[in-house]
Amino acid sequence: MPVGQARTSVIACANQKGGVGKTTTAVHLAVALRRAGRRVRLIDLDPQRNAVLSLCEEEQDAAPEGAGWWVWSACREVELWSPAKRDAELPASPDFDYVILDCPPNLDGGTQRALEASDHVLVPLQCEFLAMEGLTQILGRVQNTKPKGDVLRHVHVLPVMLEPASTLHQDILEDVWKHLSDRICDTWIPRDPGFSEASSFGRSLFSQNIKSIGARAYAKLAREVEDGWT
Ligand code: ADP
Ligand code: MG
Repeated sequence: MPVGQARTSVIACANQKGGVGKTTTAVHLAVALRRAGRRVRLIDLDPQRNAVLSLCEEEQDAAPEGAGWWVWSACREVELWSPAKRDAELPASPDFDYVILDCPPNLDGGTQRALEASDHVLVPLQCEFLAMEGLTQILGRVQNTKPKGDVLRHVHVLPVMLEPASTLHQDILEDVWKHLSDRICDTWIPRDPGFSEASSFGRSLFSQNIKSIGARAYAKLAREVEDGWT
């Protein structure tokens, strides 16, 4: 978190498509920030509870003294979150540096409220056919939920499951870059089969294989968030 920023930073991980890496991103960004000593609350807004389930065996004791670790309806601690509480509680909450919201795969109520409540919208982007069209939809929704002005500054597009040698991926990324160059994260997440393996054990890739390319990429994303997202 940038020096001097005392306020909780709320990051919604959103994309109306399923299977594009929202939960993986929310979980691994949360774990990476926590490993960096930040106080993180991860809130699973998807009724399928994938974020909760994919962390249910995660070692939660390794945090620095006093660090908070809250996963909504997770195994160890339970925190029910009502978006209506955000205005009343979050800005003044000294308990967390980051609140990360894992959104369901649609643009309905849960995602809508998350977009309203968030300071940043992190959009995982799979470099596949019609990627730009999908992005346009969610960007339109963000524009409708934020006050007028430079609304897109809230948005951070994260290329995920990237295969850098794939010409298709390169072409799609180039196309997205043309439209949204300043909103694309510096970090990109490579395809790493370790993610699905780790989640099947209820753990993050950090605890399964900290040296994996996937874990290293999310550690880099956490540094980017800390350095630059105000
Ligand atoms: P969403 O929350 O958008 O539905 P998930 O995060 O659950 O998507 O990811 C869908 C599937 O893709 C999961 O099996 C997950 O393990 C896998 N996955 C996510 N990110 C990666 C990645 N970078 N490399 C390989 N597999 C990934
Ligand atoms: Mg999900």
